Amino acid sequence: MPNFSRRTMLAMCGSALLGRTLTLDSVGQAAGWWQDDRSHGPFEFHATFPLQELTPLFQELSALELELQRTLAVPPSQKKIEVLLLNDQRTHKQLLAQQFPQVPYRRALYVQRGGQGSVFAYRNPDLSVDLRHECTHALLHASLPMVPLWLDEGLAEYFEMAAPLRAFDNPHAGKLRWEMRLGMIRGLTTLEACSDLTEMGPVEYRFAWAWVHFMLHGPLPAHRELVHFLADIRRENPPGLLSRRLELALPNLESQFVEHFRNWSRHLARS
Ligand SMILES: [Zn+2]
Repeated sequence: MPNFSRRTMLAMCGSALLGRTLTLDSVGQAAGWWQDDRSHGPFEFHATFPLQELTPLFQELSALELELQRTLAVPPSQKKIEVLLLNDQRTHKQLLAQQFPQVPYRRALYVQRGGQGSVFAYRNPDLSVDLRHECTHALLHASLPMVPLWLDEGLAEYFEMAAPLRAFDNPHAGKLRWEMRLGMIRGLTTLEACSDLTEMGPVEYRFAWAWVHFMLHGPLPAHRELVHFLADIRRENPPGLLSRRLELALPNLESQFVEHFRNWSRHLARS
C-alpha cells in the first residue's frame, strides 16, 4: 500500500540538475547489466533480470497512456520512455549514486534530460505501484512542456493504483476523511505554492491526490477545467493558476470539494 516513507518524490525535468549523460551504453550495457529488454507502447524496458513474469504489468503501463488520453485528453507520447529495472536495492542504489550523486536516494525515480524520459526502479513487492506512479510522471512530461508540481504528484498518486482501485480504494481516502472531519484542508493555493518536493509532506500528497480525485470524479465543470488547463499547457498558452480557473468555474469551490468526499461512495458515484 502506498506509504509516504517509501514514496517516490522526485520528478526532475530539464537538465539543470543533471550534468552527466545517461545512456544505456554508459550505464549498463557496457557492464553487461541488462539481461532482458521489452517494448510495450511508449516504454522500453531494460532489466538486470528476466522480465517474462512482468508482461501483464507492462501491458497495464502501456494502457496507462490511453487512460491519460481518455481522462485528461493528454495525447500519446511521440517519444520513447526508457524504464531501467534493477534486480535489487543494492544495485539500484549503486546506479543512482553513480548517475545522480547530488540527488538524495529514492526507491524509484523519474528523470527527464534532453528530451529523454527515464524511470529507475528495482524489483520489490510494490514495484507495480512504483512503476505506475513514475510512468505517469513520464507520460505527462513526454506530452506536456511542464506540469505544476502538486498536480504532477496528485495525478501520479491517483494513477499509481491499479485501474479498478483508483476511484474508491486509494488508501489516501480514509485519512482524508478523518482530516476533513477535523477541519484540516489544504486548499489549492497552498498546494500551488509548493515549488520544491521538500515542501510536500504526506498531507500535501494526500490533498494533491484529493483535488485530482475531485476533478476526475466530482462536478463536470471541474473536470472540464482540468482538461482545458492541461490543453493550454500543451499548446503553450499561458495557463494561469488552476485554482483561479476552478474558482471561476465553480462557486464555493472548497465547500464543493468537501461535499464531494462527504458523498463519495460506490452507490452514489456517477459513471
Ligand atoms: Zn511522484
